[in-house]
Amino acid sequence: MSNFLAEKYNYLVPYVPGEQPQDRKYIKLNTNESPFPPPESVKKAVEERVDTARLYSDPDSNNLRQLMAENYNVPIEYTVVSNGSDEIINLAFMAFADEKNPLVFPDITYGFYKVVADLNRIPYSSVPLGDDLSVCADDYVGINKTIVIANPNAPTGRYLELSQVEKIVASNPGNIVIIDEAYIDFGGESAVQLVKKYNNLIVIGTFSKSRSLAGARLGFAFAAPDIIADINKIRYSMNPYNVNCFTAAAGMAALKEKKYFDENCKTIKENRAFLETELKKNGFEVIPSKTNFLFAKTDAVGGKELYLRLKEKGILVRHFDTERIKDYNRITIGTVEQMRILTEKIREVLEEKNNEKC
Ligand code: PMP
Repeated sequence: MSNFLAEKYNYLVPYVPGEQPQDRKYIKLNTNESPFPPPESVKKAVEERVDTARLYSDPDSNNLRQLMAENYNVPIEYTVVSNGSDEIINLAFMAFADEKNPLVFPDITYGFYKVVADLNRIPYSSVPLGDDLSVCADDYVGINKTIVIANPNAPTGRYLELSQVEKIVASNPGNIVIIDEAYIDFGGESAVQLVKKYNNLIVIGTFSKSRSLAGARLGFAFAAPDIIADINKIRYSMNPYNVNCFTAAAGMAALKEKKYFDENCKTIKENRAFLETELKKNGFEVIPSKTNFLFAKTDAVGGKELYLRLKEKGILVRHFDTERIKDYNRITIGTVEQMRILTEKIREVLEEKNNEKC
């Protein structure tokens, strides 16, 4: 830290993204990226955009939003796009949460929520997940706070039924409810259509997972037009050209590749089922997942130790040192080949542990 950092930020503990080590080639199963490249048409669309890159991008991303609106069956005024969904999370917190409207989210969830709340000095509280690490909708009924729920949740992978999401939204008409659907394409039912019915709901999504564009940084949100206008008020005060021309072009091309998208989501679900079976065969307890990752633990080896041993063997998974979940690892679903290698390496670790005991 320099001597120049504004004092108001001394307290800040920044978010720690999943590691991206360059020392060797790893099988990367630690940041929930897609194992599949973007479709060929994305490459072409980005290349074609180079010639007009001297111009600013459209601050309203109208062409992209129009396509989003058609794809998700909502009017264009219900849409906003962003530099990754992390940016929308920040914009929404800035717009709708403060001392009078503090945030509430589950105790185990996406770690970025706390960081953004702290950055904006928004008070927050957390609601413990159930013993099975599930979100219980009743905990949020009429809670009178700005609610943020990742559905499916991360890092657990558990999904809350749409009827339960609606119960939360309907019972909090005076509060904003933010549903972060970063992983919805891997098996859950989206709450998107509910934004036409409830003016207190914001549904957030991303191109980072199911659409293979994590590096392009493209997120989006759906909400009633007044809510979108409020988000845009903050967005225009911070970064009006938040989606650059290459990302907009990439996003549009990716959206048009419905078949590729469907096939990739299907493959991830199949590979998830494969890995879940293998992990269970090897004595793991696996939380049911509707995402592109599994959250799993075993009594045979501690969470941190398994993470470290797999790293030595060239596989990265994500371990969180938080007390309640320290026995677990979050494993991104990759290709079936990657899942086979992972299973093999896990077996090796279990064998090593067994031999050490003898
Ligand atoms: N929400 C959740 C629940 C996530 O896990 C992530 C990815 N780390 C994000 C939002 C942010 O994704 P991105 O900014 O890449 O769209």
